Amino acid sequence: MKTGVIGLGAMGGPMALNLHRAGHLAAVWNRTRAKAEAIAAETGCALAADPAELARHCEFVITCVSADEDLLAVIDALLPGLEAGKIVGDTSTVSADTAREAARRLQPGGAAFIDLPVSGGVEGARKGTLAMMAGGSAEVVDRARPVLAALAARVVHMGPVGSGQATKAVNQIMVAGIVQGISEALAFGQAQGLDMDKVIEVIGGGAAASWLLQHRGPTMVRGEYDVGFKVALHLKDLRICQEMAAAKGATLETVAATMEQYRSLIEQGHGDEDISSLHRLKRAQFR
Ligand code: NAP
Repeated sequence: MKTGVIGLGAMGGPMALNLHRAGHLAAVWNRTRAKAEAIAAETGCALAADPAELARHCEFVITCVSADEDLLAVIDALLPGLEAGKIVGDTSTVSADTAREAARRLQPGGAAFIDLPVSGGVEGARKGTLAMMAGGSAEVVDRARPVLAALAARVVHMGPVGSGQATKAVNQIMVAGIVQGISEALAFGQAQGLDMDKVIEVIGGGAAASWLLQHRGPTMVRGEYDVGFKVALHLKDLRICQEMAAAKGATLETVAATMEQYRSLIEQGHGDEDISSLHRLKRAQFR
């Protein structure tokens, strides 16, 4: 299926390259043109002048942009190039309501929308081993599966449009708790004067093992926070989780504490660092 990618950032860029390797990539577009030019030059795919041109060129459009308003702006820009039978699949993290709004905007023209949020970080995007939570018609998701297999090790159909994003919200709440636990525990271990490489090695084989400990623990203890998932993006996701919980009358304590700490990291100029930079605040608490 001729596939185009819109949004060639930390996640979308490697996803486009994996689609190329699997023989699916037909076109790319990115707001900052240089990123699209680089991928078009590397893969030989078409460099679309705008989202509508990309949509005309492709049967399946994959989007990977920052936030809710960005997705809806891209959806509006795609509309003139879409027609019945085409699919738009969004891998960004946005609210379930925004996913449903995107589907509503496509509906009159007959193109189908599926929400396809992912977990697994930039490493998962590079290796094509993401976990993908799909919302939308089962028939449309099944049609997209051969392409999605180039991006994700597992694609689970969760239900109607929006249910992929609701599942991703579950993931983001868990990530908040895990990054809290790891950053605090590693700062504590450093204050005990332990050999932190050994700490991570031994604990990584026990009950507290996790993806974040394995992939971010070693850089955290060296004070390196430049790879991966930006603080500002996780803050955006947690705001969505908080609103979804509030709509059901609940507050999320770990999420609220994490959001406050992220805001102070952003004030200190660390909003573009990986979420493991929470370790900065934890480390500063110890003498
Ligand atoms: P990123 O590196 O900041 O890339 C964001 C991309 O969105 C860029 O290509 C950017 O274009 C584009 N964009 C932003 N606003 C736009 C707009 N209004 N119109 C058109 N394009 C726009 O972010 P990322 O880490 O790839 O994350 C992308 C999405 O995936 C986010 O929703 C994030 O929450 C989610 N996600 C990230 C990770 C992760 O580990 N990084 C994991 C899972 C999910 P420019 O190049 O012009 O800025």
